[in-house]
Amino acid sequence: TFQPLVSDFYSYESLLSEPEQQAIMALRGYLESEVRPIIGGYWERAEFPTQIVQPLADLGAFSFAWDETRPFENSAVFRGFVAFEMARVDASVATFAGVQNGLCCGSISVCGSAEQRAEWLPRLASGELIGSFGLTEPQSGSDSAQGLATTARRDGDNWVLNGAKRWIGNATFADVTVIWAKDVADNHVKGFIVPTSTPGFSARKIEGKIALRPVQNADITLEDVVVPESLRLANANSFKDTAKVLRLTRAEVAWAAVGVAAGAYEAAVAYSKERVQFGKPIGSHQLVQDLLSKSLGNITASLGMVVRVSEMQDAGQQRDEHSALAKAFTTSRMRESVAWCRELFGGNGIVLDYEVARFFADAEALYSYEGTREMNALIVGRSITGQAAFV
Ligand code: FAD
Repeated sequence: TFQPLVSDFYSYESLLSEPEQQAIMALRGYLESEVRPIIGGYWERAEFPTQIVQPLADLGAFSFAWDETRPFENSAVFRGFVAFEMARVDASVATFAGVQNGLCCGSISVCGSAEQRAEWLPRLASGELIGSFGLTEPQSGSDSAQGLATTARRDGDNWVLNGAKRWIGNATFADVTVIWAKDVADNHVKGFIVPTSTPGFSARKIEGKIALRPVQNADITLEDVVVPESLRLANANSFKDTAKVLRLTRAEVAWAAVGVAAGAYEAAVAYSKERVQFGKPIGSHQLVQDLLSKSLGNITASLGMVVRVSEMQDAGQQRDEHSALAKAFTTSRMRESVAWCRELFGGNGIVLDYEVARFFADAEALYSYEGTREMNALIVGRSITGQAAFV
């Protein structure tokens, strides 16, 4: 049966349909019993727990969104709660799924032909294949709409890709990567489904991260990588099409950010009841209650925002600036909340034995990826004023 969370103060999850609530409870049960107990060790060793991929696929984590693979009709609000539930246990797990499901499957779903969707989505959704998404480059992050240096050159029935990508999640063990490159003929950005076994493709893990350590981010090199025309995403004709994918995935990151804040908050509530100072649980001190109350306010306001953004997606009303505002707002509120929750743990807030330290560190990556806070603010600013400040 459905159990409300202490972090969901206004019971937004109770808005979900019964099959959606059942799917949430199955996912939550798996995450609590199999992921939460082990993930701290993987974080410390900077390893990804590959054994969780198949169970997550079986629970529907990569299949709910796509017509070809969805186990039952479901809402964007439900899919947002899937990201939230993963993130409130671990942000790296939510990020892995966000890359596999949102960025990789999303690119194929939004920009692929019917044949490409039929060929790739079921295999990615079932966990048979691992996907990744290569947009960012060593010299181009925020300006990737105009600054991509990776090139695609048509050669008969094939395309030849050359260049470098940076930060690409899952890429060290992925089977396929969606690579975004500029067509040298028309200077437009196009997308390609690149099997990672293709000669000339190599991925090297980025070491030394202080956030999302289990996520395997890579520097990719593409040297005369040849892919057939059948692997060019048929409906990706310019960066405007890439942006359609990012509109969906930024909303998903906004959801995951609320999940990270909720995970930290739940840990803080439990700790406030256990930890005794001045002869009573710290949760009975006024200033500690204030930290909890402010965090819960951030989470509750953010949930209201992401629920509405997802409703707008289902109604076909969601625009780039709607996702951008949610991503900028909820990641900012998350960053505040995880800091307050960490503060509540005192010294124990900086050791991995207490989960709050992990949420605190991981929040920094969510704040900066999928468009930094500033870039998302500028997308909103363009919509408010009609003036783009970033071209
Ligand atoms: P920069 O663009 O160099 O920005 C540096 C600073 O300058 C930021 O504060 C930025 O806001 C600011 N800035 C830049 N331009 C402006 C402007 N016009 N006005 C105001 N401020 C500005 N990418 C992928 O393609 N695939 C992935 O799977 C992926 N996974 C990632 C996972 C992690 C953990 C991280 C950290 C990144 C990942 N990324 C991925 C890349 C991510 O999307 C970029 O890091 C992000 O877009 C920012 O780009 P940048 O790091 O190059 O920063």
